[in-house]
Parts: sequence; C-alpha cells; structure tokens
Amino acid sequence: MAEHYDVAIVGAGIIGASTAHFLKKKGVEKVLLLDRGGAASGNTSRSAAIVRSFYTIPVMARLAREAVRLFHGLRGEIGSDGGFEATGFTQLVPPDWVDIAEEKVAMHQGLGIDTRFVPEGEWAQRFPWLNPQGVGAIIVENESGYADPVQTTEAFVASFVNAGGEFRSRTPARALLREGDRVTGVLLDEGEVGAGIVINAAGPWAAGLAASADLDLPLRAVREQDAVWEVRGDRPLPDTPVSNPIEAVYMRPMGEGRWLFGRGYPKPYHDVDPDNFKMTCDNDNVVEVYERWCVRIPALDGSRLLHGYAALYDVTPDWIPFMGPRSGIEGYADACGGSGHAFKTGPIFARELVDWLVDGTVRDDFRQFSHDRVAEGRLFNQSFGGNRV
Ligand SMILES: Cc1cc2nc3c(=O)[nH]c(=O)nc-3n(C[C@H](O)[C@H](O)[C@H](O)COP(=O)(O)OP(=O)(O)OC[C@H]3O[C@@H](n4cnc5c(N)ncnc54)[C@H](O)[C@@H]3O)c2cc1C
Repeated sequence: MAEHYDVAIVGAGIIGASTAHFLKKKGVEKVLLLDRGGAASGNTSRSAAIVRSFYTIPVMARLAREAVRLFHGLRGEIGSDGGFEATGFTQLVPPDWVDIAEEKVAMHQGLGIDTRFVPEGEWAQRFPWLNPQGVGAIIVENESGYADPVQTTEAFVASFVNAGGEFRSRTPARALLREGDRVTGVLLDEGEVGAGIVINAAGPWAAGLAASADLDLPLRAVREQDAVWEVRGDRPLPDTPVSNPIEAVYMRPMGEGRWLFGRGYPKPYHDVDPDNFKMTCDNDNVVEVYERWCVRIPALDGSRLLHGYAALYDVTPDWIPFMGPRSGIEGYADACGGSGHAFKTGPIFARELVDWLVDGTVRDDFRQFSHDRVAEGRLFNQSFGGNRV
C-alpha cells in the first residue's frame, strides 16, 4: 500500500471528529479522518444537541458530567465554544417515576453533578409556563444546556487539522481491508490506504462498513423527526431545554423566538434503510408533537411551523454506543451506535477511547462499551427505556 497512517477514522460526525482531535492531542503522528461528505454531514448536523446529565446508568452519568464540563471549557480545548449555551436543563418527572428519579438524583449529586428537585411550592414562580397537572416532580440541572452541533464538529476538525491531522472530505471508504484477524486499512476510490488502527465512526452506516470485513455490528437505523416552530412573543416560556416524558416529548430553545420540538420515548420506532429514507418530516408527527406540548405549555398556542426534518438514530441492542477494540480482531475499533443521545457524550467517549487505544489505559466502567459485551451477554440495563438510558 502506497499510503500508510497510524490511525484512519471513517466518519467525521461528532464522534469521528472529536476522536481525531484527541488522537492528535495525544501525539499520534499520522492520523487520517475521512468522510464521504464533509464534517457533520451525517446525523450530527440534525441533532437537537441537548447537553444534559440526566442518565440512569452510573457510567453514562459520569460521562455526561464530563461532557458538560468539556462544553464549558470547549473554547480552551478547540478554540470555539461550539455555540454552547449554558441555560440549564429541566426534566419533568411522571408520578410513577418519582421514586427512581430520587435514587438517580442522589447518584448524580454523588458524582458532583449540580442537580436538584425543585420543591412544588416554587413551581408557579420558577416555571410560569407550566401546566402542572400530572407532573410528579421537576428536576433541574444548572450547568447543562445545548450546543450548535455543526459548529462544534467543525471546530473539532479544525483543531485536528491545525495540529497536523489530515482530513479528506468527499472521500467514501468503500470497504475495510482485512488480513486474517487484523484490519489493515481502508479501500478508497483512489486505492488502498493502510492503517495501524481503523476506527469505525460511520454512524448508521458503520454496520455496512464492518460487514465488508466480516465483522458483526448489530445496529438499527431508526428514523427520528424534529421540527422548528416560531412562538408568539411576550409569552412565558422555558429558557432551558425541557424533557417531558409525561407527554413523551422534548424541546429546546433555538434563539430568536424559535423552538425545536421532538417526540421522545415511548413512541413507535421505524427502522429504515440508511441509504434510502425520507428526510422530510411527516405532517401528522409534527402536529402531534406540537399538540402534546400545547397541553403542557398552553402559551405555545398559535405558534408557526418553520420547518421539520428526519434523520437517523444508530441504535444498538441496549441503546448504548459501541466504543473500543474488540476481542479476536486487531487493528480495529468501534466508535458508533450513539442511539440518539451521543452528541453530548461523543467527545468524552472519544477522549476515553483514545486513552484506551493509544496508552492501553481504560477505566473498568468504560470497558463494557466494547462490542464484546454482545458475545459476553453483558448488555447495559436501562431504567426507563429507549434513549432515556
Ligand atoms: C433528530 C436527532 C436529535 C438528537 N438529539 C440529541 C440530543 O439532543 N443530544 C444528544 O446528545 N444527542 C442527540 N442525538 C444523537 C446524536 O446527534 C448522535 O448520536 C451523534 O450525532 C452521532 O454522531 P456520529 O458521529 O456517530 O454519526 P454521524 O453524525 O451520522 O456521522 C457519521 C459520518 O460518517 C460518514 N460516513 C458514513 N459512511 C462512510 C463511509 N463509508 N466513508 C466515509 N464516510 C462515511 C457520514 O457521512 C457521516 O458524516 C440526536 C440525533 C438525532 C438524529
């Protein structure tokens, strides 16, 4: 092979881009980042990009805590704040979740996350927009918020390139190259490129890429829709992203009176072909989500739909990403399967993945992210289902 890299990364979404950055930061000499489009040309560009810590699995809460910290210090890390707005985050809790939420908030506080229940007596003053009927409890996180997913990803790529990394856009990897039990590189249209390690960060397309080297990667491509609405001025509205499992919806501010609304778990999931799915939204879905929000926030009445779209979740069997090397194959690592919640944690997954691959150091709680957990029957257990892990 004419060209050879220490590491080649396929996919420049948030996971591949931040992995590239941390590899260069770690001092890896020759790193190639490829995308068949450009930076953030896949699902990252359509992410709601809510950055919160409310996770029920301790390792996910730890990573989310690190993610919130990273976003606060992003300018120092990559020279851009990624459009991060530290608005805080509001989690509504259905009555039958309150007991478990108490356990989880205690766990979060133990991890140093700035979160608490807001006493019911403060709701009217603190949340003047809220119809409190049917709300069991409200949790707030003070340091959370949301970011601009494209700005964040582009800044990771820029930082990687500034550090001497090589980024090739409009460069599809057609297959992984494999010799025996080692992945040796990638096949591009211009020929074979060798790599000491290939990192598969191709999002919902990662399964096809893995299959080209006879590697099993159980990923569903599930269609997910969001819509942006313009809300009439001078009405009481939340100033944070809000997760509302009571009506199974979420929202986040977009600035300038605009709000993004999406449907959350539980809901029907539609598996699609990642190379051939409808990227526009469905009218009935958009109206249903909006009407669900109008029940909880009556001031939304009379809002105007600006636009909507569909993108993909790359969903693993337990809704937790696959990260890291796996047994039985050298020169390969998974970095995919974000399952609809890996924008915030993408860069933290990337940082710990790089420690694992370059230094060989991995925390015990991180080891379980390897695809090995499938064969070992050690999938993660979730408390609430779907991407509310
Ligand atoms: C509608 C929606 C809302 C979301 N909201 C949130 C949220 O609020 N908070 C949160 O934390 N997460 C959220 N997520 C999830 C989060 O956005 C994703 O988990 C994350 O962006 C996935 O990033 P990625 O890098 O794995 O994949 P992608 O962004 O899909 O990147 C994969 C890249 O690989 C490239 N590629 C694929 N195949 C090849 C190939 N053969 N050769 C070269 N390049 C290739 C693609 O072009 C693409 O750029 C949401 C997701 C969606 C869809």
